[in-house]
Order: sequence, then structure tokens, then C-alpha cells
Amino acid sequence: MERPFLSFVNVSYAYHNLKGETQAVKDLSFQVKEGEFVAIVGPSGCGKSTILSLISGIFEPEEGEVNFKTSNRPMIGYMLQRDHLFPWRTIWSNCMLGLEVQNEKTPEKMEYAEYLLKEYNLWDVRNKKPDELSGGMRQRAALIRTLVLHPDLFLLDEPFSALDFQTRIEVSDDIASIIRDSGKSVILITHDLQEAISLADRIIVLSNRPAHVIREIPIHLTCEGKGVLAARSAPEFNDYFNVLWDDLKGKEEKV
Ligand code: ADP
Ligand code: MG
Repeated sequence: MERPFLSFVNVSYAYHNLKGETQAVKDLSFQVKEGEFVAIVGPSGCGKSTILSLISGIFEPEEGEVNFKTSNRPMIGYMLQRDHLFPWRTIWSNCMLGLEVQNEKTPEKMEYAEYLLKEYNLWDVRNKKPDELSGGMRQRAALIRTLVLHPDLFLLDEPFSALDFQTRIEVSDDIASIIRDSGKSVILITHDLQEAISLADRIIVLSNRPAHVIREIPIHLTCEGKGVLAARSAPEFNDYFNVLWDDLKGKEEKV
């Protein structure tokens, strides 16, 4: 059988500090296929960000295995809630940052950055600083900075949650279609069930901490056109929403 692009096999991980142990992930298994867009939803504090750290190799599993199809860990592009653009650098020079760090600022890669900035309407603002741009534009710039590095896997950790409702719909559509065009695998962590249903090919629902999978739902929407708004008008949308809502209601970690 072909190896999946990414698989978690019975993975457990706990944080250890002076106050004791926090089991974040327990006996967690799931797979992601090449080119698949997977959303992970779960109560806050259940271990979602920890899962991304296990994928990117920041943490090693204490039990179980995190396996990739390739023998090496694939190139990973991270997108977080905050865009982490440097305020003193222009948009262009922010987009060059990853290339500079990796010593890969080649003419081809710079040309690719130029293409992406033009394609996604940021070329005209390339000499501006991040705080002169809207939240949505900054998130697009942050994505381009990642795209120029040609990642094989995108890890998105609630990347839209700091945006207001209107911007969020526009930006999530934009970002999702940019990433889909690239044909790469995506793991999107989100609190927003509507976002998950409208963007993902499959949703993985996690339990309370320590996280394990309580449900996996393949999403098939019959709707005209693409995007968050079109998806909401699909006849299947509410059924998916109700199933997810039932799984998650009342499960937020009490702090
Ligand atoms: P989520 O992303 O689902 O909100 P996290 O993966 O960030 O959850 O965290 C899972 C649990 O582990 C939480 O209870 C959190 O408080 C705890 N945790 C996260 N990071 C650390 C750390 N560095 N040290 C100790 N506990 C941590
Ligand atoms: Mg988190």
C-alpha cells in the first residue's frame, strides 16, 4: 500500500514542567493525503497547536510515530493568527525574508515572488510597510512569503481568527484558493465550523484534551461556485454543521 503523505500512528505527547504534567495528545491517529485540504476542529486547549508542532518537528512524540511519505520531513509553510511580518521592512522585503534566511535569493525565486505579488494584488503596495496595509492584505503578504519557499505542506493555525467577519470571509476564500492552486496538502486549524465546512475536503474532530480523533467527516458540497458564501448555500451545509456542533458543544476547556 502506498504510504500516506502524513500519518500519525498512536501518537502521545505531554508537557512537563514544575507544576507537573499536561497530557496534550493521547493515542492520536490520522492521515493526510497528498494535495488534501484537511481541517482540524476541537475545543480550545485540546492540543491542536501541539499537533502542528509535532508535524513540524518542534516536538518529538513520546509514544507512537509521525510519518511522512518522503524519508525527509517535507518543506513546511506555517501561517499563524498573527502575520508576523516585520513592521520595519517593506512588503517586498518581508517576502524576501525566508529566501534570505535560507540563502536562496535567486533570480528565479525573486521572479516567482514578483509573479505572486502581481497575481494577488500586492505588487502596487510592495514598497509599503505592513501597518499601511489592511489585515487581509497583510495575511496575503505573509502567505506569499511562505509560498516563495515552495512548501509541500501548509500548516494554518487559526490564521483568520484575528480578522473581522467581513475581511475573514474574503481572506479565507483568497488564501484557500491560492493554496489550492498550488496543489499542496493543507492542515487548517480553526474554531470556525463554517470555515472548516466550506474550505476543507475532510474535517477531523478532536476530543477534549488530551486530543484524540472522535470523528472524521469527508465534505461533499453541491453548490454553484466556490468559496465560503457559496458553500453556505449548499443543501448539505447545515447537516454537517449540526453534526460538528453536537460533537463540540459544551467541550471548551474551563480555565
Ligand atoms: P490548542 O491549540 O488546541 O488550543 P495547545 O496544543 O496549545 O491547545 O495546548 C494543549 C494543552 O497543553 C493546553 O492545556 C495548554 O495549556 C498546554 N500547553 C501548551 N503549551 C504548553 C507548554 N509549553 N507547557 C505546558 N503546557 C502547555
Ligand atoms: Mg492553538
